Amino acid sequence: MSSVTVRVPAKVNVQLSVGPLREDGYHDLVNVFHAVSIFDEVVAKESEAITVRVNGKWSDQVPVDDSNLAIRAARALAKHAGRTYGADLVINKDIPVAGGMAGGSADAAGALVACNELWGLGLPLEDLMEIAGDLGSDVPFSLIGGTAVGTGRGEQLSELPTGGTFHWVFAPAIGGLSTASVYAECDRLRQASGAEVPWPQLNDSLMEALGTGDAYALGSNLSNDLQAAALTLRPELGPTLDAGRQHGALGAIVSGSGPTCAFLAIDATHARDLAESLTATGAARTAVAAHGPVQGAVLI
Ligand code: ATP
Repeated sequence: MSSVTVRVPAKVNVQLSVGPLREDGYHDLVNVFHAVSIFDEVVAKESEAITVRVNGKWSDQVPVDDSNLAIRAARALAKHAGRTYGADLVINKDIPVAGGMAGGSADAAGALVACNELWGLGLPLEDLMEIAGDLGSDVPFSLIGGTAVGTGRGEQLSELPTGGTFHWVFAPAIGGLSTASVYAECDRLRQASGAEVPWPQLNDSLMEALGTGDAYALGSNLSNDLQAAALTLRPELGPTLDAGRQHGALGAIVSGSGPTCAFLAIDATHARDLAESLTATGAARTAVAAHGPVQGAVLI
């Protein structure tokens, strides 16, 4: 095999409940991931060394040194296999960078699947999931996609069957937000308020909405504990979310740690109209319609 291509989706969190700050600096989470049809492609070609190049809209914001998550994933896989391998990785990027849509994690998952194939390792998904968990808490989900509940730091995953397709609009913002800074702001706001932080609980109404494919019920149950912090850091996101609601979005939230805004639409036509209205009125610079759930990293 001289070249392999993997397609891997972005995610939105339809519930992100953040527990109190733990002594190890992490938070216990209840994190309901939902994979949506905005994709990066990872192409892996035979090569002496592991290298990466990035093409596409957001490419200038992605590092191509050893900090690139796709390189780290390929290295971790080679280490697991106990051999020295090379791969020339090309990422065709469509997922916003530092946008709260797990773009880096998607590329890591894509590189794992691509190199597993390129190098003829034939490792089962369970092994890839284990390596993925060490790379970052969102990477295992990027491998499986669909809809899933993550607990612990987000890395313990259970897949959730959904009763239909949901239609979304995503409005990426100019400039990213670092996930660490959003968690730090969340802790700061909580400390300032002095209120007790409850233990994160899975929302049963949200589960039912996902299971029955009820977009209206899903829209009214979307929640993100990081949203207040993202809005403090980027106040201009507030009017964007309001504009989506005014244009009939069933729910409007910041995606993960932001700053991408996510809007749930009634159906595919409404999603297209909503995306158009958000850009035409200047509420968002760009807006794309997408659907979910979609499968995780897949060879194409
Ligand atoms: P999450 O939703 O998992 O919190 P995110 O979508 O907000 O993550 P990413 O797009 O994963 O953020 O990028 C976070 C940072 O990771 C970027 O600022 C970038 O410097 C770095 N990074 C490393 N490798 C990649 C990659 N392959 N693609 C995108 N960013 C990468």
